[in-house]
Amino acid sequence: MKVVKFGGSSLADSTQLKKVKDIIFADSDRKYIVVSAPGKGVNNNHKVTDLLAMCHQLSDHDLNFNEVYRIIEDIYKNIVDDLGLAIDIDAILAEVKEEITNGASYDFVVSRGEYMSARVLASFIGYDFVDAKDLITFNDGILDLERSQADIKDILAKHDRAVIPGFYGQENGEIMTFSRGGSDVTGSVIASAVDCKMYENFTDVSGFLVADPRIVKNPKPIGTITYKELRELSYMGANVLHEEAIFPLRDKNIPINIKNTNKPDKPGTLIVSNCDVKNKNILTGITGKRDFTSITLEKVNMNSEKDFFRKLTTVFESNDISIEHMPSGIDTVSVLVADSYITPKLNKVLEELQIYLDIDSLSWERDISLIAVVGRGMINEKGVSARTFTALAKEGVNIKMISQGSSELNIIIGIETQDFERAIRSIYDEFYGEK
Ligand code: ASP
Repeated sequence: MKVVKFGGSSLADSTQLKKVKDIIFADSDRKYIVVSAPGKGVNNNHKVTDLLAMCHQLSDHDLNFNEVYRIIEDIYKNIVDDLGLAIDIDAILAEVKEEITNGASYDFVVSRGEYMSARVLASFIGYDFVDAKDLITFNDGILDLERSQADIKDILAKHDRAVIPGFYGQENGEIMTFSRGGSDVTGSVIASAVDCKMYENFTDVSGFLVADPRIVKNPKPIGTITYKELRELSYMGANVLHEEAIFPLRDKNIPINIKNTNKPDKPGTLIVSNCDVKNKNILTGITGKRDFTSITLEKVNMNSEKDFFRKLTTVFESNDISIEHMPSGIDTVSVLVADSYITPKLNKVLEELQIYLDIDSLSWERDISLIAVVGRGMINEKGVSARTFTALAKEGVNIKMISQGSSELNIIIGIETQDFERAIRSIYDEFYGEK
């Protein structure tokens, strides 16, 4: 059995819904279908979730939201008309509109995109509609995985095939949503609860690419990637899948297949717990993140001061700043932090470091970028860093910082932001270029 999730662009209009139906019917294992709200399509430039959020905001300020709501109505009505469905979409749309007018909560309002999307698809393919509010439960705003899995098991046992709205559940009877993009998480929780053999996540790209196509021309697709590798890559900004979608599946060894609704025959990317298959290119992915600041502290004999690092991290913690990396030498340590955290507090942090750590000197540097070179194939493979750094040297990229994760799954390289794209391209060419 497979649980299949379709993203917003797969549900944007009737043409897309027909593709979705073909995909579902092409494999009788595709029993539980999770859907997003309609996303941007050929004839509309708006995501339904964004429009619903606007309606809620307008209504909250006692402003008329008719004009925005009409766009939402058109999207669903066009789909239902084009497909000739029997569902009374007018009544459903009118009900949602009334709830917005009557002051429904933000979470309730934005969840209605998925709700209506699932009602429409269920009617189109003849599957049962099962409401996510009966399946997914939150506790203090956090997913209650155990309770949700138990409820899903119980309820879905009564439905051989069903369409389920993604993105939301309930807490104490009130509708509550995941963060944006959260339908991926719904799909993953359901997949884990029913112990399916595969969670398929259909979107508008054929899986992950080795590098960002805006930087590298025609990067190769990633065929197979492990959960751990994906964590390293997603953390650095590759966002095809909501990062919380991994956790419910990881422990159960259920693979995720990212596939493209518009090119369903392409294999896409398979995400697995463990993979013995060697990647001949060694690296699985190359990614990066811009906009970091590096603060360097110098103090002779700092290593012998037992509380030095505790005091150092306390300054950042008390300023609510996450530390990204902390490479150190005998008498120096650098702290890398995202500009978004440090910029408004830089002077305060520098002052506190000076006061609490009594350091010899302090400097900082902006415009640092981090590059993550990730690959399960690096473990025990000699020469990976040599090749990486030689490629960077040939391009004249100055390396500011190097850190290799202890799992030997990744190498993080700090460089100047002006070199960011060149650096990624040169590493890609070294491992994936035509030789
Ligand atoms: N519709 C929601 C969003 O746009 C959730 C989702 O699509 O996963 O974020």
